[in-house]
Amino acid sequence: MSAGLYRASQHRRSRALLALLLLAAGSATASDAAAPTSDRYTELAEVIRVTPERAAPRLAALEAEARRSPAEQARYLTLSCDLSHRLGKHEEAVRLCEDALQQGRQAHDDSLVARALLSKAYAVFGLNESVQSHQLVWEAERLAANSPDGDLRVLVLISSGESFAEEGNFPVALNKLQGAVTLARQHGDPLQIAIALKSLAYLYGQMREFDKGFEAVAEAEKLAKQIDSPGRLAIFKTTEAILAVSNGDVARGTKALLAALALERDIGADAMVSNTLVNLADIYLRQQDWRRALTYAQQALDQAQKLHDDSLAATARVNVGQAYLGMGRLAEGKKHIEEGMDWYQRSGNKPDQQGVLVEYGDALERAGDLAGALAAYHRERALSNELFETRRQKAMMELQEKYEADKRQRQIEMLRQENQVKSTEIDNRRLQQRVWWLLALVFALASVIVGILYRKVRYANAQLEEKNLELKQQSARDPLTALYNRRHFQEFMRSHQEIERRGASTSGDEIVSAMFLLDVDHFKHINDTHGHGAGDAVLREIADALREILRETDMIVRWGGEEFLAFLPAVPRGSLDEVARRLLVGIPERTIDYQGTRLSVNVSIGFAPFPLIAGAASISWERAINIVDMALYMAKGHGRNRAYGVRGLAGLDQANMDEIEQDIEKAWRDGLIDLSVVTPPLPELRMAS
Ligand code: GH3
Ligand code: MG
Ligand code: MG
Repeated sequence: MSAGLYRASQHRRSRALLALLLLAAGSATASDAAAPTSDRYTELAEVIRVTPERAAPRLAALEAEARRSPAEQARYLTLSCDLSHRLGKHEEAVRLCEDALQQGRQAHDDSLVARALLSKAYAVFGLNESVQSHQLVWEAERLAANSPDGDLRVLVLISSGESFAEEGNFPVALNKLQGAVTLARQHGDPLQIAIALKSLAYLYGQMREFDKGFEAVAEAEKLAKQIDSPGRLAIFKTTEAILAVSNGDVARGTKALLAALALERDIGADAMVSNTLVNLADIYLRQQDWRRALTYAQQALDQAQKLHDDSLAATARVNVGQAYLGMGRLAEGKKHIEEGMDWYQRSGNKPDQQGVLVEYGDALERAGDLAGALAAYHRERALSNELFETRRQKAMMELQEKYEADKRQRQIEMLRQENQVKSTEIDNRRLQQRVWWLLALVFALASVIVGILYRKVRYANAQLEEKNLELKQQSARDPLTALYNRRHFQEFMRSHQEIERRGASTSGDEIVSAMFLLDVDHFKHINDTHGHGAGDAVLREIADALREILRETDMIVRWGGEEFLAFLPAVPRGSLDEVARRLLVGIPERTIDYQGTRLSVNVSIGFAPFPLIAGAASISWERAINIVDMALYMAKGHGRNRAYGVRGLAGLDQANMDEIEQDIEKAWRDGLIDLSVVTPPLPELRMAS
């Protein structure tokens, strides 16, 4: 039924709740927290806590000093933050706390940073951002864990415990707050112990363990009296009132609140007074003592207006309205309630507005205004739906955010795995590439080596071919004269046997082959007279002469020591004597100058056409040469420097061939062989005069 106190014990957010909490539970934190014990900041912190409306000039007096260092600046700004928060200027408080944080960080002082964080947490709580507020508290708790500032360590434990309680985590909250009391007792500062006890008492109330709650708050009150702090005592009395009302003991609650009011009035704590007045109005509304409720509500309204506290004024106005409704003064009641709710609406405080609407509807119903009650009911429903929708949407969004975060996490994990797979793939590919490069290099090297080897082999082969050719030539040639040697001629005749088989006629025009065998006359004499070198030179000269006299197509062979063979492949039969004559003339014409002596030689020649026909068949080339050799022998015998040519072997057959070979001269006389004799022309005789 009655608004403030009841809601106060349930929702810290509600304005009526705040009215109480500022004096009871949560309020312990802000300025208590910010109070360093050992200097005058402590005293100022207490002033801010109890009579903030009087603290501003004292704080301003500290400003100049605070400029001395970032640390002083941090403390000053933190207190300024607390003051703004106490005066209901939460946004300004947040800004000041952020400045304090910056200074604290600049001073590299974790304790100062933690204090600034705590103060910011209270300011943020004032803006109804409880989640963020709790995060700030816990951040401060982590920072202050090892702080040398014992007060601070107690303080963060208190704030942390309260934050856990606000999140419904009572076991952890209890642990923290009991820890805070224990730590405070160790330090022995009664104010610290009292503040911790009060928070613990409030938690017991939330846990519905009222006996323990009363016990704790009683000890806190005792300590406040010991240190002679009426402000703190008033705060603890209010806590006791909350516990009592929650426990259904309205009389004890009323008594405690009246005691608090007396203390507050005594010290002129105007803000606290106005809160307590609202709470008193509230508690009398619960008791349906409309007259007293109206009195306190009216006083609360006057006080709040004097302090320019619109929020408290709105709550007081609603209480005034409820008191009027209770008295049956409908018009005045409606007017005040609508005005109060108007402020809630403007400040966006829908939960309080909804709570008031419920009580408003009940009051109108009781007063017999059913239409008004119905209207209030409809408004409450609409607001409720709106709130439900807002909460639903918020929950959906939170769920969505959580889902998105999970999804992102999964995506990140997937990407990470994908990256890992990719980087493994890249590594493999790199390795593969390296292997390929290596293979390519090996292949290239091998190609180069093979190329070099191949060229070497080709070169060697070419060399070999050249050498072979050279060898072949060497084996075919006579080294002294470079003419063909006897072996080459023999090979040639063996491979050209068709020459032997050519038919033969005796016609002078017939083209035949022919063999001329030459032997140098008295060659031994050259050697003996001029030496072997002269002999060699003569032999070379003869070779040259033969090349000159004969055709290129004729084969010239060094047959033996000073014997030469000329094989003419194609020559008219009738011109053989002429060839012999040319040789007989041409060779002696060539002279060599050997060591001042002119040397020249004659030759003797035997020759024959080829093939030689004996009877029906041609005779072999070996035999033919034999016969030519016989003819040469005859030329030697008949005076040298002449040629004997076989013209024909008339009437001869294979059988008497041996006879010719043994004695050609006899065969010639017997007419078995036809020979021609060629002699060089006689030198022209000079006529004797
Ligand atoms: P003829 O034929 O007129 O009866 O008298 P000849 O002196 O030419 O005959 P013989 O067969 O007695 O002598 C041939 C000489 O030729 C003997 C040998 O020492 C010489 N002779 C053979 N081959 C070479 C050679 O390659 N170089 C030189 N300098 N002399 C050679
Ligand atoms: Mg000879
Ligand atoms: Mg000779």
